[in-house]
Formats: sequence, C-alpha cells, structure tokens
Amino acid sequence: MRLYNTINSEDLKVRLIAETIVRKTISFYRYFILENPQEFRDQLYSEWEAINCFGRIYVAREGINAQMSVPEENFDAFMKTLAKFPIFDQIPIKYAIEDNGKSFYKLAIKVRPKLVADGLDDDSFDVTNVGNHLSAVEFHSLVEDDRHVVVDMRNHYESEVGYFKGAIRPEVDTFREEITVVTEMLADQKDRKVLLYCTGGIRCEKASAYLKHHGFSDVNQLHGGILEYARQIKRLNLESNFIGKNFVFDERMGESVNGEVISHCHQCGKSCDVHLNCANELCHLLFIQCPECAVKFEKCCSSDCRDVKNASEPEKKLIRLNTERKFGNSKAYRKSYLLVKNNTFADSISAEEQKTGF
Ligand SMILES: [Zn+2]
Ligand SMILES: [Zn+2]
Repeated sequence: MRLYNTINSEDLKVRLIAETIVRKTISFYRYFILENPQEFRDQLYSEWEAINCFGRIYVAREGINAQMSVPEENFDAFMKTLAKFPIFDQIPIKYAIEDNGKSFYKLAIKVRPKLVADGLDDDSFDVTNVGNHLSAVEFHSLVEDDRHVVVDMRNHYESEVGYFKGAIRPEVDTFREEITVVTEMLADQKDRKVLLYCTGGIRCEKASAYLKHHGFSDVNQLHGGILEYARQIKRLNLESNFIGKNFVFDERMGESVNGEVISHCHQCGKSCDVHLNCANELCHLLFIQCPECAVKFEKCCSSDCRDVKNASEPEKKLIRLNTERKFGNSKAYRKSYLLVKNNTFADSISAEEQKTGF
C-alpha cells in the first residue's frame, strides 16, 4: 500500500485549483499518550487518503495536531474514521470561517517528537497543570479590562496582520523564543490575571502550564483560540476585540476576523495583509506584498531575489554558496533585525517546524 505522496507539489496545486468538489477546512488537536505514533500515522493515512482528505497533520507520542480539508461529500465518512479511534471521542473540531476549500493540496501526516516545537523539557514541569480555559465570550469581556495582561502566544508575522487590542506581541519567530521572552517580560507581574491566546489553542496548553510552573498565579487561555473566537463573535454578532486577520498555516495564509487591514506591504508601505514566500527559492522569505509590488518584483522580496529567480541553474549554484540570510536566521521579514542578531534561539528551527501554528 502507498502511504506517501509521490506527485510533485506544483502538479498537485494545479489539480487542486481545477478540482470541482467542495471542501471544508477544519482543525483539531488533542494531547494523549500514543504507544506507537508511526503505526497510528499509517492507519490515519490509509483511512484519510481513501476519502480524498488533504491536510498537514502531526502525530507525536503526546497526541495529534491536525489541519485538514475534507471533501464535503465525504464528511460523514470522515467522521466515521474518527469514530474508529476511541481517543478521538468528542474531540472538538474547529471549522474555518473564511473557507474557499483550497487550504491544502495534499495529505501529509508526519511523526514528530512533539506536537509543537517548543524546545521545552516536558519533564521539568507539570504539562497537565494547564491554565483556566475561557470561552470566547468570557475572553471577549476580560480582554476589555486593562487590569489584566493579554499575551499573544504566536510569532510576530502572525500578530503583524491581526491581534487582540492591547495584547503583548513579542517580536519573535518561534514558540520557544516566545515562551521565554514572555516569562521574562512579565517576571514582576506574576499576580496579575494573564490572558493567553493563540490560533487554535494548542500553544496555550503548553504555555499556560509553563507560566504556572514559573509562579504565575492566575493563568487563563482562550479555549479554541482565535479560530473559535471568530466564529462565536460572528454567531453572537458582537463587535470583535480582535482586529485584522487570523494568520493560518495553510495555502489561504489567513482568515479575516473583523475585515480591517492593519498591516502594510513590506516593499511600498501600502495597506496590505497578504503574506507570501519569496519566489526565489534560495530566499523563501515570508513577507507581506501588495498586488502591484507582486507584479513589479515577480513575487520576490527584492530586485536581487528577482534576478536570482531568473538566473540560470549554474549561476544559482554559485549564489547558493554565497547566500546570507537577510534577517539573520529568521525566515520571516523582521522590523527589527537587531533582535535577531542578539538572540540565541532562532538557530535550528526549520521552516517545517515553524508550521506548527495552531
Ligand atoms: Zn507594495
Ligand atoms: Zn527574497
């Protein structure tokens, strides 16, 4: 049986665009103990491949983190595959709010050491002693009270396009930087009520336990993350305390929450919130680019990159040898490069690891 994709990405993307079936974008995660992650992974792959599901799914000894697109016609069949595994019992599934169904173009299920690349030693603190889970409505009213500290647990390129009003948003690239910086920043405010949030809630599970271990007395987290908040705000017709767009780690790159565009094109400064990766594959920088600059620079982050993109293969080989990263080890555009220069964390996190977002 074939348990991996063998077709190249470009062909798969073309197929996805041409596809006429309707897909639903969903996400879910759960922490539980898995004896044999590889076997579980293979079972899921054959179940989900058979009903044409796409997505990026991580399986680890500590559980599963899944972001998927499921054909609407196979949705019941998909729910039946979940029912085959008792560990999925009553698992909360989050549905995308802004969904064109083109979120993923293939099925990738990977076994990894951890669900979130947090760089933390799980044996050094009680990972089950998590913060208080707040519903979207509870979180909504608490963030309005400025006696409390609101912390965005995501990376800077995520919070650049959208965030809760008043939130602390450290300029970091990875979750492990984030958690260290936040703990240090709030070292003298351990008695205040802390309100954590992330995309879908999974990062806050670890972050809240970590903060509690470090003496924070009143740690709370948004249950279901911004994804759930956006849905509830719509349903209840409340005015959103989250402004801008919720960055998501799939082909859509984001879902608008309140319709506002709060960020700018990194090349011309025009109002824009569309992320893309530089088309020069040697660079691949994640940055924001408006449609006009996309034409002018051929979807590259600079004219240098445009030249490299258009260079011949032997030329590229030479360039590859001489390439230095524009923003240190960061793979995303950074407003203050200084911070990168001085930090010691962003060393070994691969682009793939950074896609843990959730
Ligand atoms: Zn521009
Ligand atoms: Zn570039």
